[in-house]
Amino acid sequence: MSTNSTLQKYVEKMKSLRIDRAHGAAPNKPTLLLAIVELIEQGQVQENKVSPSPGLFEIFIKYWSIVTGRRPNLALPFFHLKRDGFWHLHANAGYEIALRVTTQIKTVSRLREIVAYASFDDELFSLLTNTHDREVIRQTLINTYFTDFKADVESLITEEQQIGVYRQALLQQVEQTFSSLQSLVPTELEDPIRTAGFRQAIMRIYDYTCAVCQLYVLTLDGESVTEAAHIIPFTVSGNNDVRNGISLCQLHHWAFDRGLISVDRNYKVIVSDLLLERGATEWLLTTMRGKPILLPEHDALYPAQEALAWHRAEIFRR
Ligand SMILES: [Zn+2]
Repeated sequence: MSTNSTLQKYVEKMKSLRIDRAHGAAPNKPTLLLAIVELIEQGQVQENKVSPSPGLFEIFIKYWSIVTGRRPNLALPFFHLKRDGFWHLHANAGYEIALRVTTQIKTVSRLREIVAYASFDDELFSLLTNTHDREVIRQTLINTYFTDFKADVESLITEEQQIGVYRQALLQQVEQTFSSLQSLVPTELEDPIRTAGFRQAIMRIYDYTCAVCQLYVLTLDGESVTEAAHIIPFTVSGNNDVRNGISLCQLHHWAFDRGLISVDRNYKVIVSDLLLERGATEWLLTTMRGKPILLPEHDALYPAQEALAWHRAEIFRR
């Protein structure tokens, strides 16, 4: 089959996804597919393996909220897309039989328990990695399922592209010497784009995990609650350099910004003596004392010593 007729075959499949229209207009499966197209375009999915990851949830929820105010549930399309024939689910070790006999998965936690990843037909994945063919498939999805929201979907795509460019620029900035009080990346972009780009860069570096407690916390909807924190606050530094950033859960972000915890020069957690805790919450803060933080894979991306020293001097309460 020539590439063109392969493309045509999948365009037809995209036009006739099995959609349950009884539950209103929100198209679960096309939304999932748009989100994956986005991840492939951004280089976040490079091989034919799509895992139910926080990165996928995040982008799925963005597209979803354009179309409906209803709660998103990525588990439904991720599981049921297999009925359309080009999407194949692969079980986590020990869950092979469970996956084979399961007829529905209703929650994200159950999905992540059973399913390791999904793959497309190889020829479809190869189309999706080609810029032109990917765009044809994306436009097919938009024109078939998002006719009433076309402008919104397209402006989201543009926005995501801008965020991606900014994120890349931030990641490239680490080739230059760290400067604590300014970002070297030009900042004519709007605030929300810069904030989102900084977050994306930090989440990719730390894989949505809190650097202090090393927990990976998802909401019931599958959204990550891990936050991208600035070491020297943005209001002081105006600096979105990833070396001025760290990934923290909400509790540790709160404690870090209030100087109840900090990080020493050996990348170990220090805890303020002011923090007198009793009972269950002790586990969350005081027992982190002396623990090494989670560090990026490449040392070029580590939190800057200069920024950490500033945090210890100006924010930390001994
Ligand atoms: Zn934490």
